[in-house]
Amino acid sequence: MTDDSVDPGEAFRPLGNEVRTRVLTALLEPVGEGEGRGVAPTTKTFSELFEASGAETTAGFAYHLRQLTDHYLRETDGGYTFTYAGLQIARAIVSGAYTESVDREPVTIPDPCPFCGEVGLRAAVADNTVSVSCHDCGRDVLALPFPPGGHRTHDDESLPAAFDRLYRHRVALLAGGTCPECGGRATSRVEYAERGDGALDPHPPRLHLACGACGYTLRCPVTLAVFDHPAVVAFYHDHGVDLRERPIWNVGREWREAVLSDDPWCVRVSTELEGETLELLVGRDGTVVETARHSSPTSEPATDSAAPSTAR
Ligand SMILES: [Zn+2]
Ligand SMILES: [Zn+2]
Repeated sequence: MTDDSVDPGEAFRPLGNEVRTRVLTALLEPVGEGEGRGVAPTTKTFSELFEASGAETTAGFAYHLRQLTDHYLRETDGGYTFTYAGLQIARAIVSGAYTESVDREPVTIPDPCPFCGEVGLRAAVADNTVSVSCHDCGRDVLALPFPPGGHRTHDDESLPAAFDRLYRHRVALLAGGTCPECGGRATSRVEYAERGDGALDPHPPRLHLACGACGYTLRCPVTLAVFDHPAVVAFYHDHGVDLRERPIWNVGREWREAVLSDDPWCVRVSTELEGETLELLVGRDGTVVETARHSSPTSEPATDSAAPSTAR
């Protein structure tokens, strides 16, 4: 493996100029129509880029273009095209990742609250962060960032589902050992939740998912990490329930978690449908080590279910 690193100060300096950012975004060409509308990376000639750049003279423009090659742009026979870094930057610019702060009026979510069971959940957005809370019992369910591009392209109706899909897959990717932000190696461990005052709360444990390369961190109930286990998918399928329709803010009130041991960690995650119980034993890194299906015993009291949260 070779690693050609550039000093970050050197790499970002050429971007502080509107002509150059226009060149980068001009290489993302509008494609499609209606619902399928989007942008796609392309190759453009010197004169096409000059046209798009707003620069006054070709000599001045040539200077700006030189600042972008070879780190962000590569010159080919057909013209100028993106390097990996150039495409990442252009995408971040057009999606507003570093420039847009979205606030949005609360929208009603038609799912019951995981705490009180009432249909009182609302999702509000402040500075790109979605907060789901219950206006019936007043409890906060989760607060997680959602990128500006997602807010722009989803309406009030489709936003909650898009947000749910994004985090469901982030949890699955991280639990599988890969960071959704940077592709780095991620690790998971079960631990007790830390309260606001820094003390460890004995109940319930959380799965702490972290990327060793970029520092991306997510915490979620242990239950969320078993959601795509074949035994869980099969159990729900056998009972005619599509687990994909259960949002992360309420995975269903039939789920239970119990700590069988915290040294070494063993958490029993169980669920019950139509008189049948599925039990999964989860080890210290969140992997399922054993599963069992049997007819249900008398039910245990519910533990709080709650959705994932990023570390602050
Ligand atoms: Zn509630
Ligand atoms: Zn990462």
